[in-house]
Amino acid sequence: MTRTTTTKAPAPAPSTAAQASLYQTLKSHLTVLRLYDCAEALPSVLDAATAEKLSVTATLERLLAIEVSATEARRLAGRLRFACLPSPASLEDFDYDAQPGVDRALMNELGTCRYLETATNVLLIGPPGVGKTHLAVGLARRAAETGYRTYVTTAADLAARCHRAALEGRWATTMRFFAGPTLLVIDELGYLPLPAEAASALFQVVSQRYLKTSIVITTNRGVAAWGDILGDTTVAAAMLDRLLHRSVVLNLDGDSYRLRDHHARNNTLRTTMTGNRQPLR
Ligand code: ADP
Ligand code: MG
Repeated sequence: MTRTTTTKAPAPAPSTAAQASLYQTLKSHLTVLRLYDCAEALPSVLDAATAEKLSVTATLERLLAIEVSATEARRLAGRLRFACLPSPASLEDFDYDAQPGVDRALMNELGTCRYLETATNVLLIGPPGVGKTHLAVGLARRAAETGYRTYVTTAADLAARCHRAALEGRWATTMRFFAGPTLLVIDELGYLPLPAEAASALFQVVSQRYLKTSIVITTNRGVAAWGDILGDTTVAAAMLDRLLHRSVVLNLDGDSYRLRDHHARNNTLRTTMTGNRQPLR
């Protein structure tokens, strides 16, 4: 019996020289186009395409989806950096049971960011510790996450920055800066006495945004006291006129969240000492 040994022709190498060069060209196209995440993911996507027998369309989609999500993540990080959020507060971690005065349905509506499309302003009014800053920062975070340019500042910082800008001849640039973001949060109006020229700075910021872009303001003083805060009743009236024209006003009049633990501790102490279960306020 003659044994015939059939020597099989060697299978073609998975990547021939031509294929390797095509791969390098493709990778360099991606780099030239600054699609760095695509370039990095190219080998694994091509491997997956072979393994899963993906069509050309499916392979391209998978490759570009990587760049799209990386770009979106970068843009979000940029918007969050720009926003200068002062705390990790978010709408999700706001405890509505602790603040029954807050209209949950209204907050959910604001959380959709639709108010930004109509340049509606939001006024959060209430005593210290009730969650005004928390909600304002939560709204700013949500706006940034939804894709809007947002900036958070305090009334005192805004006034100081405008004052410096006036001294250094940068007034117009600074006004343009405060006109830019789709949402501007001005926190803590009324906590600190504002210097005389702050009223006109605030007024100008509010006027130039009027009916174009939204402002969220938090304050511990009712609108009737704004003349005192700004030291000028005429400017205060004109500013309120613009702010309130298209606005949502939330009055938070509950107990201080900051003092909750403090009250709880006091009550425990008092109960242990006297057996009195009346809340200590
Ligand atoms: P305000 O600006 O009204 O003085 P803050 O928003 O600064 O009060 O709230 C004080 C602290 O209590 C913050 O750390 C905030 O996150 C927290 N806080 C207030 N209200 C709530 C709430 N309802 N749920 C969760 N945290 C709250
Ligand atoms: Mg606050």
